[in-house]
Amino acid sequence: MSYLLAKSKDDDILKAGECGGAVTSIFKYLLDNGIVDGVLAIRPGDDIYDGVPTFVTDSEDLLATAGSYHCSPTMIGELVRKYLFDKKVAVAVKPCDMRAVDELIKRNKINSDNIYTVGLNCGGTVSPITARKMIDLFYGVDPDDVLSEEIDKGQFIIELKDGSEKGVKIHELEHEGFGRRENCQRCDVKIPRRANIACGNWGAEDGWTFIEINDERGEELIEGAKKANILDTKTPSENSIEARSKVEGIMIKMAQKNQNANFDGANEMEEWNRCIKCYACRDVCPICWCYENCELNKSYFKEAGSVPPEPIAFQGVRLSHMSFSCVDCGQCDDVCPSDIPVSLIFDKLQKKYYDRTGYIAGVSDEKPPLYSPEKSEL
Ligand SMILES: Cc1cc2nc3c(=O)[nH]c(=O)nc-3n(C[C@H](O)[C@H](O)[C@H](O)COP(=O)(O)OP(=O)(O)OC[C@H]3O[C@@H](n4cnc5c(N)ncnc54)[C@H](O)[C@@H]3O)c2cc1C
Ligand code: SF4
Ligand code: SF4
Ligand code: SF4
Repeated sequence: MSYLLAKSKDDDILKAGECGGAVTSIFKYLLDNGIVDGVLAIRPGDDIYDGVPTFVTDSEDLLATAGSYHCSPTMIGELVRKYLFDKKVAVAVKPCDMRAVDELIKRNKINSDNIYTVGLNCGGTVSPITARKMIDLFYGVDPDDVLSEEIDKGQFIIELKDGSEKGVKIHELEHEGFGRRENCQRCDVKIPRRANIACGNWGAEDGWTFIEINDERGEELIEGAKKANILDTKTPSENSIEARSKVEGIMIKMAQKNQNANFDGANEMEEWNRCIKCYACRDVCPICWCYENCELNKSYFKEAGSVPPEPIAFQGVRLSHMSFSCVDCGQCDDVCPSDIPVSLIFDKLQKKYYDRTGYIAGVSDEKPPLYSPEKSEL
């Protein structure tokens, strides 16, 4: 593992990029040199609260994807599995995206030879609906007057069309039930170290991206982009490295505190009783890939024209699969029409599974014990 600061040599990318435009520059290098067929990134949709996954095949179109979108979904792994299996791709991945990609690689559903993973450190995402509501309530601002948003130094900051900025402390927003999505408040993987490189603003100088190189492929990405004369790099100071590590530590402690509070408050049975068995949580889950053979589609679980089985039997099957697979991306919470904190329950179980086996989905190197020869010993 090694560290560097990087910035784009392309003025347009440097201007559009969130930090030093390093991520967009690396993508440009990969596309222009025919190393990948395309890049999966995010572009703004109808407004700043809308982030749309987009597959870019012409580097001219990359500029529109630069920047950080904090209200965007976390479905990168599933998109690669479903639509891009046979293509050579580069993807921008937050830690939960990377964990999903990693679990799908372990299940041979993504070909690791075909994918370059450019990680983004992540302090959290906010649901678009929550973002609009809290900007109205806490900032007294029309959400449509907001030009951009960012999370910095413990605040959710908005920039208005008139150039002014307003910030409110994240913990104040979260205390009132707003702020980051609940799974993000618990998330303790803040730097995607299983991606080829991990990029962020923590520890970076203004106008530069701080990069942690995690493997040989990561080295190749940086060296290639430098040789293509699109990326400038320099060594970060010891202070920068220390500052980054300190913030990561604080964020992890905060997440662990939230985990303890949330896990203690969860009463699974009460929650499951509200389940209407709509299958949305299964269908959105990036790790649930076996639709055709899914146990929950079997006639004893789902007879045609009948109501599916008891929630606890239905969710029991999912629990038995997700205990070693859940990457806490929170998409099941986003879609549940009964407001069941699905990811909280699965995450809680995943932590128990960790206590027994030492395995963390999308973080541990090896395959989950239930997939490996150690299965019989368990
Ligand atoms: C939700 C979020 C939270 C972040 N929180 C932190 C943090 O707390 N600390 C920290 O050090 N860094 C954080 N980052 C990373 C940081 O904001 C920059 O993305 C990173 O430093 C790279 O900067 P750049 O200028 O090189 O990237 P750019 O050249 O601007 O490229 C960024 C790339 O990321 C893609 N992207 C944007 N939003 C998303 C998204 N939601 N999901 C997947 N891909 C996306 C863009 O489409 C683009 O391809 C966060 C990023 C995101 C998206
Ligand atoms: S779960 Fe973690 S990695 Fe994913 S968006 Fe939330 S904070 Fe970021
Ligand atoms: S169970 Fe929910 S939180 Fe866990 S991986 Fe699936 S969608 Fe994400
Ligand atoms: S999304 Fe909610 S209601 Fe639908 S099956 Fe999942 S837990 Fe039940």
